[in-house]
Amino acid sequence: MSENRPLIHLIYTGGTIGSIEMPNRGGLHPIDFAHLNTHIPELSRLDVDIEVVSVAEPKDSSDMRPDDWAAIAAHIAATHDYVDGFVLLHGTDTMAYTASALSFMLQGLKKPVILTGSQLPIGKIRTDGKENVLSAIEVAAAQRNGKPLLQEVAVYFEYKLFRGNRIRKYSTEHFHAYVSPNYPVLAEAGVDIQFNTSALWIPKQDQLSFYPNMDPSVMPLRLFPGISAKMLQSIKPADGVRAVVLETFGFGNAPFDTELLNTLSDWMNKDIFVMQISQCWHGSLAPGKYKTGMAMMEMGVFNGKDLTFESAMVKCMHALGRTKTRLGMAEVMKQNLAGEFSE
Ligand code: ASP
Repeated sequence: MSENRPLIHLIYTGGTIGSIEMPNRGGLHPIDFAHLNTHIPELSRLDVDIEVVSVAEPKDSSDMRPDDWAAIAAHIAATHDYVDGFVLLHGTDTMAYTASALSFMLQGLKKPVILTGSQLPIGKIRTDGKENVLSAIEVAAAQRNGKPLLQEVAVYFEYKLFRGNRIRKYSTEHFHAYVSPNYPVLAEAGVDIQFNTSALWIPKQDQLSFYPNMDPSVMPLRLFPGISAKMLQSIKPADGVRAVVLETFGFGNAPFDTELLNTLSDWMNKDIFVMQISQCWHGSLAPGKYKTGMAMMEMGVFNGKDLTFESAMVKCMHALGRTKTRLGMAEVMKQNLAGEFSE
């Protein structure tokens, strides 16, 4: 270890990047980091000190749960003061949820937390994993005046760096698997890595605050033409559900159906937090623009602005981890905790 070289913790959680094909056990299986290391010998040539950390058995990201997010966040919180940056190797399927979760669990981060992965396993000749890992480490190690350049949770993928709680996985096939529809990229990698410094998050707090609790009692509800109050009544969200993420049309519109609106209102009277977001990937809500959206506003449905679906779900889990009442939820949800919505 050298005094001047940044110390990076490389946390391997699983996903395609470190998987190999096991045809007799059904498809791709995540295996240990040693396998990954043999395929990226360049790791030892980087001008950084890397410590490989494992917080749990490597898994497909579809198996990730809030407990896994808490274990990763706990490691980061415990080592935050002496590590210069963190790189998390993660499956692509739920990377947007994990990145959002870490951004809410670790508020006031002073060090970069960079998630990356790949569309093709590292053992494949045409893998995209090698470039992703090497550049993610370079981003995590980037410093200015002896301080980390990034102080937030970000995702590096296919030559672009994104704010973690703004991304959506949009392609199963392309190497550029993610888009950030409502926030500019934080950096682009070409011959050099060019940082978009004016877009980087500036922490609002001096100290890191770690919020380990996530309560997943959140139900998504996507409106569609033909949805009826009867269908909603059969869902009975009162049975354990404390928050609903309502995916409304366009600027925040919903069918002007009194019975349907009454059902939502009934849930809210039972202290269930109801927040609307848009089914559109780009743009923000403006629920007062049309009569069909006005009703939502008048009922007091919470305006989720341009939160992505993933960020909206996870932010509700975070808020429910801190408070159980609808009003308490609204207090947490209206704060821009980690640059998750546009102001
Ligand atoms: N199923 C994999 C995962 O999310 C896909 C990937 O890593 O690309 O873990």
